[in-house]
Amino acid sequence: MKQIAPDYYDRFKCIADACKHNCCIGWEIDVDEYTMEYYSSVKGEFGDRLKNNISLEDDAPHFCMAENERCPFLNEKNLCDIILTLGEDALCDICADHPRFRNYFSDREEIGLGLCCESAGQLILNNTEKVQLVCIYDDGETEKLTEEEREILTLREKAFGLIQNREKKIQDRINDVYALIGAEKKEIKISDWADVFLSMERLDESWTELLLKIKGTPFEWVRYSEIQFETAFEQLLWYFIYRQFSLSAEDGRIKERMIFALHSVEFIMLLCDFHKNAYGTIELSDIVENSRMYSSEMEYSTENVEKYLDFCLNN
Ligand code: SF4
Repeated sequence: MKQIAPDYYDRFKCIADACKHNCCIGWEIDVDEYTMEYYSSVKGEFGDRLKNNISLEDDAPHFCMAENERCPFLNEKNLCDIILTLGEDALCDICADHPRFRNYFSDREEIGLGLCCESAGQLILNNTEKVQLVCIYDDGETEKLTEEEREILTLREKAFGLIQNREKKIQDRINDVYALIGAEKKEIKISDWADVFLSMERLDESWTELLLKIKGTPFEWVRYSEIQFETAFEQLLWYFIYRQFSLSAEDGRIKERMIFALHSVEFIMLLCDFHKNAYGTIELSDIVENSRMYSSEMEYSTENVEKYLDFCLNN
């Protein structure tokens, strides 16, 4: 099977202790069977520490969160004691793989870097080139795409072409993708849009606070006033189509998933517009942060994504 990835994939580097939103804080991390077997074999003081900080209760072994929902192996310098003591190879699958995501088609595994990671966000949004997909591994074995997969990939290719058309403004490129899937773009009142996200599962207090501020804005409709950074929004569109639309090969929700991808970028544009109005200015790093927050809250909750897909269907 082939492994496909965006061409920036290999340039990713975790910024570890320099990361403001460390992925070892706030998420429950399951330990896979193979790693659990290895951890159980570690002797001495560190072996005891491993055993004492992994819970075997519930569905799968997982690290017991320490104070402030920190991973018990994240030390006071925000470095991982498992890596420092046993080496990087000792990480469990989830830790070693994060922030990568994977989608599957019959003939390929598609890998990407999740926007919930600020280092991935910086890499993605600072990229000024038009993204391309590259094959990073091929074992020579292949299966045929199904008819539906072929249609999805063809539609995705067309959508990539439309959003990378730099002759046009970003809003026009978005409208072109709505037209491509035969969807009518519906304006959503800002307060109604905030309510949709407020009705969902939320992780971080600051996300709730931001949504409440947006809900209380005196403006009824989104204006996206003078937002520059067209290339950054192009990269975001590419990312959400690559990650979210591609999943329609699994659930068949082709139209909703494309609208979800477009809405995701439009909502991040609204967050950026809001930021600019509030602070008088906006930097690329603010777009990275808004994207990180949106991605963490939405993309990593299957329940939230499903709810949003239903919202797209009903609207
Ligand atoms: S969120 Fe990204 S940069 Fe931060 S610690 Fe995790 S992998 Fe590293």
